[in-house]
Amino acid sequence: MNFEFTEEQTMLRKTVRDFVDKEIMPNIGEWDQEGTFDPSIMDKLADLGLMGVCIPEEYGGSGMDYNALAIVCEELERGDTAFRTAVSVHTGLNSMSLLQWGSEDQKQKYLIPQAKGEKVGAFGLTEPGAGSDVVALQTTAVKDGDHYILNGQKTWISLCDTADHFLVFAYTDKSKKHHGISAFIVEREWNGFSSKATKGKLGIRAGNTGELFFEDVKVPKENLLGKEGEGFKIAMASLDNGRFTVAAGAVGQIMACIEASVDYCHERETFGKPIGKHQLVQQMIANMEAGFQMSRLLVYRAGELKNQGKRNTRETSLAKWQACDFANKAADDAVQIHGAYGYSNEYPVERYLRNSKAPVIYEGTREIHTVMQAEYTLGYRKDKPLNNMLPAWDDKELVK
Ligand SMILES: Cc1cc2nc3c(=O)[nH]c(=O)nc-3n(C[C@H](O)[C@H](O)[C@H](O)COP(=O)(O)OP(=O)(O)OC[C@H]3O[C@@H](n4cnc5c(N)ncnc54)[C@H](O)[C@@H]3O)c2cc1C
Repeated sequence: MNFEFTEEQTMLRKTVRDFVDKEIMPNIGEWDQEGTFDPSIMDKLADLGLMGVCIPEEYGGSGMDYNALAIVCEELERGDTAFRTAVSVHTGLNSMSLLQWGSEDQKQKYLIPQAKGEKVGAFGLTEPGAGSDVVALQTTAVKDGDHYILNGQKTWISLCDTADHFLVFAYTDKSKKHHGISAFIVEREWNGFSSKATKGKLGIRAGNTGELFFEDVKVPKENLLGKEGEGFKIAMASLDNGRFTVAAGAVGQIMACIEASVDYCHERETFGKPIGKHQLVQQMIANMEAGFQMSRLLVYRAGELKNQGKRNTRETSLAKWQACDFANKAADDAVQIHGAYGYSNEYPVERYLRNSKAPVIYEGTREIHTVMQAEYTLGYRKDKPLNNMLPAWDDKELVK
């Protein structure tokens, strides 16, 4: 067990931090207020090799490990949740799923340009009537010769207007429930596809989130990812990777809360002393620090298991649940420490509070992760060990 970051990891952190300080920090207040997502940030991330951090070099990525991905996510979310979310869906949920489940042709056609950042990928699972309850989805894909005909609607999809490729989940056989869901790679340019951004979001306003519509979209059969009926398994394995990036981002959100709050504690005086000298303010700072350290340990443990190719669904879920809850609490306390000034956009902490809510909801809500952890502890749920590099999911392991 080694708790030190390597020289390479320290360099990577510095590179991303410098990028965030130069490209994101000066503009984020305005982007957030105007609700605009700047896609050129994705091009700049690509130039730094950050659009395929742990995709092997042979598939256009940077060939780094999972903890390198965690460092990138921490530092991006220190800037804003929108850009970490973009990396989460592009790399964690889409590209890594192509790496695990894609045919060689699919990897050549879709993964390589995504890992290089020439194309952007997104993940379409959630529907108006199906969030936590994935099996309730309504989108269908009906086989028609060499194609599937896709019909349905997705909602709350990150990068809905920006992505070039979408990983879309649809029923090929509804009677088989989760064994009847399949995964497809869908291109934005195909006839019958459209998207629409959602306005009026609480947070992640500098991000692009919205709906996808499929009206008789012809998907070539070569774009089925994995086999027919493997979609649920693919979605759960994708979430193992996506959740890891969300947890790491939450660590970065706590870092940002600590930075802003410590500065303010030294700057603001009441009753003749800096507010940092008041014990009840110190309590909030101490809670943030504890949340930061505990979350980071959980994230890097999950990352290390992933690096070793070991099953980590349980550890990743715990890291995601705890880190996102700690980040949400840290942001709430950061606003409290700033008093009324924290309640205005003169300081960044109100944005942190708004941004920290979505990660408690997406990629498994707080309640879903709570239930998962209870089920593991009670022995109702067990994960099989893995013999391949990326996590796999087998619903038979749910021994309820
Ligand atoms: C900013 C943002 C970006 C997103 N990006 C994406 C994306 O890129 N791709 C994508 O596919 N989705 C995305 N989502 C959707 C997200 O994954 C879903 O919102 C999430 O899975 C929860 O589903 P839901 O909103 O339908 O809530 P529901 O599932 O309807 O849950 C409502 C409430 O009931 C609780 N609940 C539900 N079931 C249980 C249970 N069994 N036990 C206890 N409590 C329960 C939930 O915890 C929650 O509090 C995004 C969401 C947001 C906010």
